[in-house]
Amino acid sequence: MGANWIKALLCAAAVGPALTGCATADDAADRAIPVASPVFCTSANSSMNVVAHEDDDILFMNPPTDTDVAAGRCLTTVYLTAGDDGQSASYWRGREDGAMAAYATMAGSPNSWATAKLQTASGQAAVARTLNGTGIRLIFLRLPTGSPSGRANHHYECLSKLHAGTIRRVHSVDGSAEYTNASLRATLTGFMARFHPSVIRTLDYTDRYGDGDHADHHNAAYYTEEAQRDYTAPHRLQGFRGYSMTLLPANQSDSAAARKLAIFLAYAAHDSHVCQTADACRHARRYWSWMSRTYEVPAPFASTVAAAQPAVDGRASRVSARRLRPEATSRLSTRPQAPVAAHRLDPPSW
Ligand SMILES: [Zn+2]
Repeated sequence: MGANWIKALLCAAAVGPALTGCATADDAADRAIPVASPVFCTSANSSMNVVAHEDDDILFMNPPTDTDVAAGRCLTTVYLTAGDDGQSASYWRGREDGAMAAYATMAGSPNSWATAKLQTASGQAAVARTLNGTGIRLIFLRLPTGSPSGRANHHYECLSKLHAGTIRRVHSVDGSAEYTNASLRATLTGFMARFHPSVIRTLDYTDRYGDGDHADHHNAAYYTEEAQRDYTAPHRLQGFRGYSMTLLPANQSDSAAARKLAIFLAYAAHDSHVCQTADACRHARRYWSWMSRTYEVPAPFASTVAAAQPAVDGRASRVSARRLRPEATSRLSTRPQAPVAAHRLDPPSW
């Protein structure tokens, strides 16, 4: 094992402040390396988020994500898409910077990260960034956003088409990787096996396209739900509603909403497409509705679901799928169906 290899492993594991010699530039790690979990990260204290876009975890999985960070748990968040919205690299790289700034804010740590090019279980390269001195790791697969139709500059490739089988492969927007349906699932299962979370969070895997949520939110959730079936270690899967929670009552305290907003503003400084100030976000109907809500979806195959109730101790409320869509409960054990065109809430495309 050579010196460069040892350094790469140390950088990837992010075991402490000795990481100042690690690469921080995106292309500095020029070859994919295995990434080890820090030794202090056990299954008992590890969680994983899998989302579509670089602000989904902030908006839809808080307070649970912030609570994990505050407790010092080891947390790996996987972003399936670049969140590019058909824009240039400067835009989607900015969103990655925003995610990093948000986690540094949550951790109360300097915004100092180590970067490694991680080798996935399917042999592809992905960018992994670790917040120095913590067990917080962000993994960016950089697949194109824009489901269900895709964008011209990425040959109309998107996760909806991959999941439906209408295309066989999807390529990352930086040209560094390609995935099939099977290899994307295997990649996520591989991350779970490698970082051994006992809690896995994703978006809404219980409802179908066209319920008002972004198709890529559902896609991330569908792939995660499928991937965790092959993750044999004991774990709990949690799904969270995205845009569609706007249809439900506000359920976060003023202090919880203010905390979510503060974290989001750290992100927003790097994303010109979103509200930029506390006042602007509070007066933006859509954004403030997301700050003041967080809803966990019912567990799959549940015979009964709890009614909506106020969040307690940093936990999201569970809500009956029946309240959101009368026909939803009967679908809990069925596979997702083909996408539909209409979006009741006219969500933005990122
Ligand atoms: Zn999103």
